[in-house]
Amino acid sequence: MRAYIGLGANLGDAGATVTAAMAALAGLPGTTLAACSALYRSAPVGYLDQPDFVNAVAAIDTELAPHEVLDGLLAIEHEFGRQRSFRNAPRTLDLDLLLYGQVEIHDDRLTVPHPRMHERAFVLVPLAEIAPGLALPGRGLVAALAARLAADDLARLPQ
Ligand code: AMP
Repeated sequence: MRAYIGLGANLGDAGATVTAAMAALAGLPGTTLAACSALYRSAPVGYLDQPDFVNAVAAIDTELAPHEVLDGLLAIEHEFGRQRSFRNAPRTLDLDLLLYGQVEIHDDRLTVPHPRMHERAFVLVPLAEIAPGLALPGRGLVAALAARLAADDLARLPQ
């Protein structure tokens, strides 16, 4: 299944962390990396008194079931030493399962598509770079959704 992963980091060398996490995605069982967006710098959402984030989106092709992908993401976050303190707190690495094919999941561990992705420029703009013609179930095409958002607080970083 083709799945899309949102990556974000804002502590330490955030760009290096995101790049290393993309490589770690390719190390999940039965999984290959199909595409990676550029890195983007974004202003924090929610708790504002923290450094800017570096964000990116990766496409993977995986034989894993959705909850197995989530387990893999949590393991990679753990490997990169994430400290959970409070909601929207600074973190070394945050990984979200944005989409798993066109499958919709609502259970106690997983909501897919990710519930806030359609309103976040730091998700939609990098996603539009690698999959502009992709449909978000019930919401329309990624490129159209991205174009509708003000990306004032988002800057594409040089490769
Ligand atoms: P946070 O990283 O603070 O956004 O929350 C991580 C938790 O959100 C995980 O332990 C998951 O069980 C839960 N979760 C629900 N839906 C998703 C999703 N689509 N991607 C990643 N985590 C999710």
